[in-house]
Formats: sequence, C-alpha cells, structure tokens
Amino acid sequence: MNELQKSIIYLNGVGPNRHSLLKSEFGIDTIQDLIHFFPNRYIDRTKFYKINQLSNLTSEIQIIGSITNLRTIQNKNKSRLIASFQDETGSIDLIWFRGHKWIGSNLKLNTPYVIFGKINSFKNSINIPHPEMELLSSFKSKKRVSFNTIYPTTEKLINSGITQNILRKMFYDFFESQSKLFRESLPRSILNGLNLISKDLALKNIHLPESNDLLAKAQKRLKFEEFFYLQIQILIKNNERKNKIKGYVFSHVGTFFKNFFHQHLSFNLTDAQVRVIKEIRKDLGTGCQMNRLLQGDVGSGKTIVAFMSMLISIDNNYQSCLMVPTEILAQQHYKLIKNLAAKINVKVAIITGSINKNKRIPILENLKLGKIDILIGTHTLIEDSIIFKNLGLAIIDEQHRFGVAQRSRLWRKNILPPHILVMTATPIPRTLAMTLYGDLDISIIDELPPGRKIIKTVHRDDSKRLSVFNFIKEEIKMDRQIYIVYPLIEESEKMDYKDLMDGYESISRSFPLPEYKLSILNGRMKNKDKEYEMKRFINGETQIMVSTTVIEVGVNVPNASVMVIESSERFGLSQLHQLRGRVGRGNNQSYCILMTGNKLSPDSKLRINTMVKTNNGFEIADVDLKLRGPGNIMGTQQSGVLNLKIADIAKDQELLVLARKSAKKILDSDENLEKTSNQCIKHTLAEIETFKNIWNYIS
Ligand code: ADP
Ligand code: MG
Repeated sequence: MNELQKSIIYLNGVGPNRHSLLKSEFGIDTIQDLIHFFPNRYIDRTKFYKINQLSNLTSEIQIIGSITNLRTIQNKNKSRLIASFQDETGSIDLIWFRGHKWIGSNLKLNTPYVIFGKINSFKNSINIPHPEMELLSSFKSKKRVSFNTIYPTTEKLINSGITQNILRKMFYDFFESQSKLFRESLPRSILNGLNLISKDLALKNIHLPESNDLLAKAQKRLKFEEFFYLQIQILIKNNERKNKIKGYVFSHVGTFFKNFFHQHLSFNLTDAQVRVIKEIRKDLGTGCQMNRLLQGDVGSGKTIVAFMSMLISIDNNYQSCLMVPTEILAQQHYKLIKNLAAKINVKVAIITGSINKNKRIPILENLKLGKIDILIGTHTLIEDSIIFKNLGLAIIDEQHRFGVAQRSRLWRKNILPPHILVMTATPIPRTLAMTLYGDLDISIIDELPPGRKIIKTVHRDDSKRLSVFNFIKEEIKMDRQIYIVYPLIEESEKMDYKDLMDGYESISRSFPLPEYKLSILNGRMKNKDKEYEMKRFINGETQIMVSTTVIEVGVNVPNASVMVIESSERFGLSQLHQLRGRVGRGNNQSYCILMTGNKLSPDSKLRINTMVKTNNGFEIADVDLKLRGPGNIMGTQQSGVLNLKIADIAKDQELLVLARKSAKKILDSDENLEKTSNQCIKHTLAEIETFKNIWNYIS
C-alpha cells in the first residue's frame, strides 16, 4: 500500500480519538487527506511592527519592546492586570483578565521581550489582550518557523484540545520524518513553461513555509494543479460526449436560411452574431449532438440567432422548438418570429398553458404531421401530449429556469436527441461558465448592435423622489413609458406587498387620472389579469407600469425609457442588470434610476456603484461573483466547484484560464494521454477516480 493511503493513526501523536475527530469534522482519514488539508491563513513571524504602526491593524502582530509599568485594576469583583509596553515609537497596554497573579510575578520590567498577539480596540484606544511573550534573548537563540499556519477548525476540535499548535506539530513531524513521498503530477513541460515548483516542495511549503516567496509559489502550484485536473476531466468528458452521442446531421444551409439572410434581414448582423451562427452551424453538421450555451447580454440580439439556427434545421427537413419561461415571453417571441417566418413561408405555432384544448388539437395534429416548422411555448412543450414528427433543434431561452433534467425530457420524443441551444442573458464570467457548464460548449455574443444608446444609470436617495417624479413627467410628455419596480422577496412577502401597494397609491396621487394611466402587476394576480395589464402597457395604453420583479425576464417594450427601481439596495446585481435591460430597447435615450434609503451597507454601495459605472453584463457578473462567491451564482450549487480545496474560482481566474489552456493543449496533441511525458497525468486521474474525490458531478 502506498504510504499516503495509510490511516493518520500511524502518525506520531494521533490516536484513535484524534483520528475519529478529524475524520468526522473534516473527513481526514488518510495521510493523503491530511496533507491536502490546507491552512486558510498564514501569519508572518518574520515581520515586526513598531507600536506607532499598530492603530489600523486588525490581524495578529509581533512587536519588540519592554514593560515599563505593571498594575492591577480592580473593577467590582473582577480584576485585570495591565502592563505598559514600550518601544522607541510609543506605548501600548497589554492586558490579562485571567491568571494574572502568576503572569505578574514572572514578568520582568525593563527587559526586552518579543510579544505576539491580536490588536483589540476599545473606546478609541488599542491594546493587546493575553499576548504570547518571550524574552528577546531566548527568542533569538531558538530556530523557529517563519510563519504560523492557521488551519480551519471547529468548536469540537478546539474543545477536544486539537489546537493550532497540535495541528502544526503533526505536519512538522510528518515532514521531518518523510521526504520525496509525492509523485509529481504535472508534466515537466508545464512545470517549466509556467515556472511552477515541484509537488514535493509545494506541499511542504504550504504547511511549513520557509519564506514568503516559497509560500506564494507553493500556493500557485497547488491552485494550478487543482484547476488543471478539474479542467482536464471536463475536457475529457466533453471529448467523450462528442464522440459518443450521435445527433442528426444538418448537412447543408439551404434556401430558407439563404433567402431570409439575403432578402429579409432588416439589419446587418454584428460580428459576434455572425461568429456565433458559424459556431452553431458547424456543430449542427458534425453528426454529433450539439449542446451549446449561448450567452449574450440583454439586447445583444440572441433571438435572431435562434431564428436563423432554426432555419438551418428547417433547411434539413427537421422541426424546431423554442421554449421560454413565461407566457408573456412566449407570446412576444411568437409574434416576432411569426412575422419573420411569414416572409419565407415557414409555419409557426404557439402552445402555452392558457391555450385551450380545442385550439390545441389541430396544432398537435399538424405538429405530428410535420406541418408546423417551429413551435414556440412555455414548459408545456415538454408535456407528453406534445409529439413532433421530427424535432431537430430545441432552443431554450433564459436557461436558468430550466434544469438539465427538463432539457433531457425533450430527448425522449426522438430517435436521436435533438440539438440543443440554451440561451441566457445572465452572463457569468467565461472562466466560471466553462467550469460550471462542463457539459455545454459555449458561444458568447459580446457586442451590442450598433447605435445603441448607453442607458444612463443614476443613484438617488428617497429625498430626491420629487425631482425623480418630475423627470418622469417630462419623459411621459415626450410619449415615453416608465417602469417602477418594487422588490418582492419571499421571506417578507407580506410587507413587500404592502410596500408595493403603498407605492402604487402614492404614485397614483402624483400621477393622477385622466392625464396619467397606470398599470400594476404583481405575483399575486391571476395570469389572465397579469396579461391584461401587460398588454395595456405594451400597447401604450398606460404610461407607467408599477410592478414587482415579474417583469424581469425578457419583456420587450421599446418605447419604455425609464426604469425606476425602488429599494434597489435589496436587489442582487444580476437582477438589477436584468431589470435595467427592460429599457434601452428602442431609439430613445433611456435611464435607470436606482432609489435607495440613505444608509447603505458597503456591499450595497458596491452593487449600486457598479451599476452606475457600467452597462456591461460580464463586468457586472464579475463583481457579483467576487461579492457573493461562486456558491450563489446560478447553477453552482449542485456542481461541486465549491469543493475546491485551495483554488478560488472568483479570485484565481487567471490561473483557471492558464489551467484550461494547458489542459487543452495536452489533450489536443495527445487525446488518450499515451505519451510518456503525460503518464503522470494518466496516473493522477486514475487516483482521482479511485478516491471518488469531488468530481462526480461532471458526469
Ligand atoms: P436579447 O439578446 O436580449 O434576446 P433581442 O434578440 O431581443 O436581444 O434583440 C434586441 C433588439 O435588437 C431586437 O429589437 C432586435 O431586432 C435588435 N437587433 C438584434 N440584432 C441586431 C443587429 N445586428 N442590428 C440591429 N438590431 C439588432
Ligand atoms: Mg431575449
């Protein structure tokens, strides 16, 4: 058995008790597990501060100086010991609340000490409670580590006496007694090319750093390795999928596509749209099933890409469907696509929950007979009653509302799975996307159609409401329409509902009939009523839409020019960005007004400022990722990406990109990892498989 696979019981100082505690708290069973239990913090013990530098520090610090005065202060029935500690720049109090008799009688006055502790600030002054103290003479005579490692811990470990010192000693003993245990897991070419240190050196220095420089190198090496193996597994799975899952061959681009492209397209496609259509076109011709994610900011023109992809399907005698999350959206897409399709004699139909049986029957029949080319609808499209003659391409808009399971339900209806294109307007950073959506290829529209006016975004607090309302009146005079959105967050739904209603009343007072007409929309309304209100707004019969976030997804009213978001500090960044995307869809200059109270948390401030500063969904997604961590980004919960031991998807994106590139390069030239130089990869992958590490999710 490999030395590393032995239980930690074999280590000095670890008995059954500690073993079972470490196992239950952190899953540490073998020596291998222990070695991959990394510190989450390091304290540099080579760095000394002067007392006059301490006031803004919150971490552990080290200073050299002498005690000039010792006193006990009695306060009711509690007492504390205070020492004035001085260096050449100033003085600070050291405080003991416990054990001060013993401490007091052992401390030497006017003798140099090294003290180590955490700064505590109390009523405008700072002190150091319960510092570690060592005479400078003794400090100098000992060989010592440069860093104190701080490991993750739990209440249980602390209470059972497994302190940081005990943990440190376990590693110290281990590395003292062993050397060269770790097989190198990265090929020479990568180590040299990226200037990475060996695995042995990295693991040793992550636990017992010799210097700042080596610590940084160790972290880089181990983070890279973690990303590299994540990526290489994703890429291998991708290759397997591509080789395995057969799909319909759309061999050519025919007259429907060409006709539309040359004669009926009313604008020039952006370069990004052209590139993406080419990527899709290529996938469709390979004979393997396409599984592609199309990311594009709100308004980047995904619909036309979807439509033209469907034309390729029709050119090859296959049907297509477009699935969207809401009834309103389905209707909008239907109207738009029906108009485009009419020009080239393509048959389009719609099926949603509210379309009754009688209307459905002929649609279902024609669908079965292949007389309908494009079917648009909500999730009703995956119902059993809906049977295509030959579904070749399924497009899913606003991906986050549909899970993988729902996606695959579309497959059952075919001999082969249809090609799948998933479109999302919630951009996530590319690095995260390629890690999360290991099972999807990714296309990105990173360019808006020309001539778009940038939406002007401003932040206003409640005291400016009057001037905001006046501004809205000006816009309405110019025949524009306005959204005013209130938050609705489930846990406080009742209160939010009241906010909405109060808001609605106050708005009705400021914008009275007959001059102004309002629509109101909220989640409690019946679908029928919602649609009625939405239609009135879409048709321009009302000028102001007061609503909760139900209007968030996809709704298109090009004449709307102002989006007011109430209590905007309560929204997440991606939601704010989605909401803002409801305006700026026409030719008019559009505005987004973020209303807040006047007290904001630092995070809220950053969110609001980010919105004011940029319109770019990818930049916003980046900030969002950094603020919330990958855990809260859509789709990460079930993915296992969170279980990374040392790398951080948000903070280490550059390394992630490097790892992706390196992994791709290796597989491109050696798909089955047969080269001698790549045996270390094959070996490590086999190990990962056997240890059933964190990677299960990829499949
Ligand atoms: P989204 O990506 O948010 O779904 P849409 O597909 O709804 O965006 O497109 C937004 C608007 O931009 C639509 O009115 C569409 O007709 C228009 N549009 C799309 N592509 C172009 C282009 N290349 N040039 C000009 N306008 C375009
Ligand atoms: Mg859209």
